[in-house]
Amino acid sequence: MLKIDLKKLKIEAQKSLKSAKNLKDLDGVFRSYFGKKGEITQAFNLIKDMSKEVRAKFGKDLNNLKRFIEKSIEGKKAIFTKVVPGKEWLDVTAPGKKLSLGHLHPLTVTIRKAIEIFQEMGFTVVEGPEIENEFYNFDALNVPPDHPARDLWDTFWLKDGKMLLRTHTSPVQIHYMEKNNPPLRIIAPGRVFRYEATDASHDVQFYHLEGLMVGKTISVANFIAIIQEFFSRFFGKEVKVRLRPSYFPFVEPGFEVDMSCLTCGGLGCSVCKKTGWLEIMGAGMVHPNVYNACAINSKEWQGFAFGIGLDRLAMMKYKINDIRLFYSGDLRFLEQF
Ligand SMILES: [Zn+2]
Repeated sequence: MLKIDLKKLKIEAQKSLKSAKNLKDLDGVFRSYFGKKGEITQAFNLIKDMSKEVRAKFGKDLNNLKRFIEKSIEGKKAIFTKVVPGKEWLDVTAPGKKLSLGHLHPLTVTIRKAIEIFQEMGFTVVEGPEIENEFYNFDALNVPPDHPARDLWDTFWLKDGKMLLRTHTSPVQIHYMEKNNPPLRIIAPGRVFRYEATDASHDVQFYHLEGLMVGKTISVANFIAIIQEFFSRFFGKEVKVRLRPSYFPFVEPGFEVDMSCLTCGGLGCSVCKKTGWLEIMGAGMVHPNVYNACAINSKEWQGFAFGIGLDRLAMMKYKINDIRLFYSGDLRFLEQF
């Protein structure tokens, strides 16, 4: 019976592994032990001819040696395949990786478009704080503490009970009129907050665009011309508007603004409930008390103010039926734009 000295085999294996200089050498070592005629392979072939007593011990030792050599080869392989800084190989002919480009949120597109149109009509963009005090959010806008109109909005009050998250961007008008004299032509886009239950058309935050135009002779006719032009440009088709009397404390007279239905063009369809008109915004002639709060002479100056819900505009433009989709961060929704 052929005798095999496993101890000697181990020492030889260590020697040949030590002298292996690259992956090719290593492959040679592997084959010399585990190939068809490799030393370990042959040793395993001997087991079947061994006596029972010898077989158990030999088999165990051989398995240990096999694992030792395998592990040593793996260890050496890891050293050889390790990337050496500066020596990394680069395939300059490989096709480049495509970078995925992001895009603007539909609300951002809407806000930018609205701003662009108003700027073209000579309006200046003005911004203000999202945290306001009662004076700017209510009092200066002719909404005194006991006025029932304060109930129209459920407000996020801050802990001190005096500061709040603005419920509209109208306070920006007050800040602006305190520092600037008429004639004025401004818009104030921005985020506003309402403390209310959410549903498909209400969320706790949304975007408002407040507009204000004040001059010596600014009238409702100017308002209709401006707003009709805005909607026509925004929706990219001829739009008509009509006014209905309404009440907001900071204007007198106040009105609801309807826009001719985008779907049927005013003929009547299911979207406009067969009326041909869609409710779109509130507006009015600035109340004298608002001028007084800003030390502007209401006998000398007059003008209009309006507030547009930008989320609603985006919903109409892109035919979105749930406002909450804007803030959900759901990529299945966002990637459609
Ligand atoms: Zn319609």
